[in-house]
Amino acid sequence: MPKLIALDDGHGMETLGKRTPVIPELGRSIRENEFNRAVVNFLKQELERCGFDTLLVAPTDEDISLQKRTDLANARKADIYVAVHYNAYDGSFSGQNPSGIEIYVYNGDLNRESGKLATAVGKYLRQGTKQNWRGIKEANFYVLRETNMPAILTENGFMDNKQEALLMIDEDFQREVAVEHAKGICEYFNVPYISASDNAAQTGFRDVSPDAYYANAVKRAKDLGLLNGYPDGRFLPDNSLTRKDFAVALMRLYDKLK
Ligand SMILES: [Zn+2]
Repeated sequence: MPKLIALDDGHGMETLGKRTPVIPELGRSIRENEFNRAVVNFLKQELERCGFDTLLVAPTDEDISLQKRTDLANARKADIYVAVHYNAYDGSFSGQNPSGIEIYVYNGDLNRESGKLATAVGKYLRQGTKQNWRGIKEANFYVLRETNMPAILTENGFMDNKQEALLMIDEDFQREVAVEHAKGICEYFNVPYISASDNAAQTGFRDVSPDAYYANAVKRAKDLGLLNGYPDGRFLPDNSLTRKDFAVALMRLYDKLK
């Protein structure tokens, strides 16, 4: 059975506070959830490619209560719980401007499974964009306390540090943070991390793992020009075939055999 990873994007899109100060160049503030949600969605793709199942505990833009989030993860018996956040200090770009990454585990869990998971994820978070490493810390946070499985909460930068605030809406940074979380989670479970390019080179599609039982069939069908996947490089192997797609594939096959 694949391991089930519960993913928590922190807050609702409109949750009060939880945003940067107004950034003059943008003429607006950036909401924390713009970052959290993007990273969680990228992380979901990363983890599924690596063979994990995922559970989004707050899949909508609503501010789902923390209790609903942890109840869902507990009910579905997720194997680990990962909450993605962006930090805040004083809500202002002036004055003291702390920066950097920190990871939280529940009080007393530093030397338990959650601490091991935090160490693995932290190892990769420190390797990307150069940021201050503030370490792994313990805290009595609701989602860390009320989850029945190893749980971490990552703070991937500070919303009131202008440089880091701007990173929040940088898609390259969002993807990088997701990849780093995925690498750490793979390491924690001792499974190989499979990058999107590994897959694409071997199977023709970034979401088709070379280990999948259908990988060879998909690749041969693509090489023969029978099945082409989607313009964004994905095959979406679990999507159903519509009658129109079936007709197209069937006639391509007919023309080939004619
Ligand atoms: Zn947060």
